[in-house]
Amino acid sequence: MEKSKHTYIGYSTDETVRYKASSGGVGSSVVKYMLDTGQADYALSFTYDPESISYIPHFVSKFEDYSITGSIYQEMNIMSALKQFLEEFREDRQDAVGRRIILFSLPCQAKALRAICRKAGFEAVIIGLTCSSQQSKEATSYLLSRLGISEDEVSMLQYRGNGWPSGIQIKTKSGREIFVNNNDSIWTEIFHSRLFIQKRCFSCNNTLNCYADIVLADPWLKEYMSTETVGQTLFATYTELGEKYIKKAIEAKYVVAKEVSYDLLYNSQKPTIIRKEAYNSHPPIRKWFRRLFVSKTYRFFAKKKLFFNLHCRVKSKIENLIT
Ligand SMILES: Cc1cc2nc3c(=O)[nH]c(=O)nc-3n(C[C@H](O)[C@H](O)[C@H](O)COP(=O)(O)OP(=O)(O)OC[C@H]3O[C@@H](n4cnc5c(N)ncnc54)[C@H](O)[C@@H]3O)c2cc1C
Ligand code: SF4
Repeated sequence: MEKSKHTYIGYSTDETVRYKASSGGVGSSVVKYMLDTGQADYALSFTYDPESISYIPHFVSKFEDYSITGSIYQEMNIMSALKQFLEEFREDRQDAVGRRIILFSLPCQAKALRAICRKAGFEAVIIGLTCSSQQSKEATSYLLSRLGISEDEVSMLQYRGNGWPSGIQIKTKSGREIFVNNNDSIWTEIFHSRLFIQKRCFSCNNTLNCYADIVLADPWLKEYMSTETVGQTLFATYTELGEKYIKKAIEAKYVVAKEVSYDLLYNSQKPTIIRKEAYNSHPPIRKWFRRLFVSKTYRFFAKKKLFFNLHCRVKSKIENLIT
């Protein structure tokens, strides 16, 4: 079990930020605090591109330019965007010394993002997301096909945010609005089908983002799930740097939070942690799943409505047997 310095539950004091964010908006509020007060020079943000129904990473220097997008459940090339940004910074002959950049990161990308920044002379503050798995863009395409919506019709698609736990919000060019719950829905089945996850997710064991400075999570715990509708973030700090900026954001009243036990964070993600441990302790099953789920023939049938349900049931049975 990774050990955090401090663990908290809290939310943004800005009601709009809290509502628009995935959980309680603590991540976005730390960005707001650090950019507003000049403690960071740049932050990673994402812009929705309606043409490709995808999110494009870019860098902002003012909170006004930062988009509160919620969690983005499709693979993006953040590494390339960061390298390009740092290269352009260097070509402008700007001095990187003393520059600080805030990066949101999945657990598997945190180390590499920090190393890229360090090489360019930047100090990175990594706000890590908890992660069960990341989907390919095909998961979104498959969802749209199951909903009977053509990709050409979509004008906006957001996966989380606007209340908690919220879900997928789709707007069509003709003005139709479709909402798909984050829990107990066709999207939940697609998300957990493992048909659309990245190959690396089959052997991942870093759910709680132990290389980040701060980790953010949803409080997937009975007491919050039964009452919370706006959102709270369960979060922890792993480094002095992370703790320093969390403390400052709390002192400056950008965030309200109370300290809780690390067990709360662990327990909120326990099913994912156990499932990942089970995959890692059963390499033949992991290997078989990974091979089968990428096979063109298997995918052709598994994505048919009838077989998809069967696929999900059998996959869950096997996962239950090994956990
Ligand atoms: C692929 C994925 C898997 C997840 N799995 C889990 C899980 O298993 N358990 C759990 O509790 N929570 C999970 N989350 C949710 C995540 O931990 C929440 O985003 C977090 O609780 C948000 O807290 P917040 O409201 O304080 O952040 P916010 O204020 O909403 O800020 C989060 C910011 O993260 C950035 N961001 C969104 N998606 C990505 C991405 N893919 N890569 C990099 N940056 C991004 C955006 O800039 C966004 O504004 C997952 C998120 C993603 C993207
Ligand atoms: S499950 Fe692991 S490997 Fe997959 S995206 Fe999340 S952190 Fe990366």
